[in-house]
Amino acid sequence: FPSKQPQVQTTIFTKMSALALEHGALNLSQGFPGFDCAPALQELLQHYAKGHNQYAPMAGVPALRQSLAAKTSSFYDIPVDADTEVTIVSGATEALFAAIHCCVSPGDEVILFDPSYDAYDPIIRLAGGIPIHIPLKASNNFAIDWSSVTAKITPRTRAIMVNSPHNPTGAVWSMADLDAFAQVVKGTNILIVSDEVYEHIVFDGAQHASVLLHPELRKRSFVCGSFGKTYHITGWKIGYCIAPKFLTAEFRKLHQWVTFSSATPLQYALAEYLKEPAHYLGLSDFYQKKRDLFSSQFVGSRWKVLPSAGSFFQCLDYSAISNEKDVDLADRLTREIKVASIPVSVFYETDPGDKILRFCFAKEDEVLVEAAKRLIQIL
Ligand code: PMP
Ligand code: GLN
Repeated sequence: FPSKQPQVQTTIFTKMSALALEHGALNLSQGFPGFDCAPALQELLQHYAKGHNQYAPMAGVPALRQSLAAKTSSFYDIPVDADTEVTIVSGATEALFAAIHCCVSPGDEVILFDPSYDAYDPIIRLAGGIPIHIPLKASNNFAIDWSSVTAKITPRTRAIMVNSPHNPTGAVWSMADLDAFAQVVKGTNILIVSDEVYEHIVFDGAQHASVLLHPELRKRSFVCGSFGKTYHITGWKIGYCIAPKFLTAEFRKLHQWVTFSSATPLQYALAEYLKEPAHYLGLSDFYQKKRDLFSSQFVGSRWKVLPSAGSFFQCLDYSAISNEKDVDLADRLTREIKVASIPVSVFYETDPGDKILRFCFAKEDEVLVEAAKRLIQIL
């Protein structure tokens, strides 16, 4: 059978989690919390599991769209229309897929930045689009040089995919990035797919620079989000897309053919849980403590801690320790010292040859300390 995606393999997350399981390793590879969601959310789910078990409306349960619109509106101080600008989908993965597929036609170019989340490139290709990768450099803290973006724009550029806070590097945008980005797209028909799943995990007192905050960006953006990261429920696979009315209409045309609608009782439970700002406002502090605990373990070691300004990922540079390729080292560490991580080179179109591993610190404190203890013992 001629594969439609001959280059595509099992994702690195599936591979590393399976290897971690096989070897009984501490799993700091695939990004998911090593602890449960709040009991109050579990109780809401139990409550709504009765009587809410048939199809949800295609665009999402109205109560959830309203809660999300209200939350987004108060958090960013912008108007958001629950009926025409919000769609509930099955995870940010579906939001990204539908956003790209509803606007990219064969031959269209889509600009993205490496390291890029593994789903972006294949989603663009499946739509017949041409991914145009712009590599970012570790030596520049993975910041975007906006003039290099302008240089990549052609008459066929349909969209630009962006992600802040960034997976896998933890880099975050400043408000100046929003202005620079706006200058790049102003006067063009270029659309934006903005992956903001880590919007509530931003450290050191910084504010998340959402494209929703900038009118020039907002009017052309699909903002893709996920409740999985914010409420410790990655297994629920409920996400959303916030976009202007004309883009939401196109987005929904796609969504209705992908899943049509997403799990009903989960949407009702979230609709209520979202109303309490305390359920997300403390998240940055919660994860900053974990970042600091994990990264402080490496002081005085030969692991170099790279900046992590947001997300729940910490990148460590091992160039002073080993010459091995990151994929090989990640494999070996899982087998030998039983700590699983993600090699960052897999997120590049062209491997820059960096020696960097990504560790997820959304884990219990003891797990983080034990993992670091094992890591600093390697030669
Ligand atoms: N985008 C990024 C940057 C992610 O890290 C993830 C998952 N961790 C997703 C999208 C997918 O989110 P979901 O699980 O809601 O589909
Ligand atoms: N986004 C998660 C990560 O970066 C993985 C999700 C998945 O396995 N697809 O680790």
